[in-house]
Amino acid sequence: MLQEAGDEEGLKDASKKLREYKDKYKDYSKEHGLGMHNDRTQVYGYDRSKSMKTVWSERKALIRTTPGVTSDFSVNYPAIDNKDYAKKYKGLTDSWLGDRRAVETARKCIKENDGTLFENVAILDSRNGKMICDFMRPGETGGEIIIPKASDNSFIVIHNHGNNDTFSFEDFALLNNCPQVKSIIAAGHNGIIYKMSVEKGKRLDLSNQNAYNDYYRDFNRRYTMENGNFDSIQYYCNALGWRFEYE
Ligand SMILES: [Zn+2]
Repeated sequence: MLQEAGDEEGLKDASKKLREYKDKYKDYSKEHGLGMHNDRTQVYGYDRSKSMKTVWSERKALIRTTPGVTSDFSVNYPAIDNKDYAKKYKGLTDSWLGDRRAVETARKCIKENDGTLFENVAILDSRNGKMICDFMRPGETGGEIIIPKASDNSFIVIHNHGNNDTFSFEDFALLNNCPQVKSIIAAGHNGIIYKMSVEKGKRLDLSNQNAYNDYYRDFNRRYTMENGNFDSIQYYCNALGWRFEYE
């Protein structure tokens, strides 16, 4: 397991793994006569020119300077292993079993990254909470997550946030760009959970890199040191009519 963002060997392995995944996908596409359409996969962690290493060192710097955001990434087990915590996931999927699967998935993401800023990302079926894609560690795939194509609102994306902060711009962009994702959940290691969904709201056109960069800059401008990304996320959700909750 990678322990430090500055682990060069680990990063090399990471890009190798991502390449292997892409090659496998290419083979699959060829075999099934699908052709390699770029729009068949979507990528999480948009800025591909920037390695996850950079993102992590930026996040670490942020944590050191932002009051109210802890630099302790350890898991608060009593806060997540109780019934009240499970209630935070109620109504997330279409069934009680789905909600139970969602909370178990979140707990697993959190516990597997105890004491670190590493994130596991899981894609669940929004109806029954069944796992669509197994846990993927962005750090081990060069920061990219593949969201399969599907009809609108098919998936719930669950991931952990070691620093207990709200959504990042990358999280926001993922939900914005992938209509197949109904909701995204960020589960803090201290028991807080953040939920965001587009529902009947509007989406931004982030389809080209320039537009993406413009919004990214605006997002960071709205960001205040006291509230981390919170102000930016709240602003964008209000402006676009999205639902944003945390508890
Ligand atoms: Zn996130």
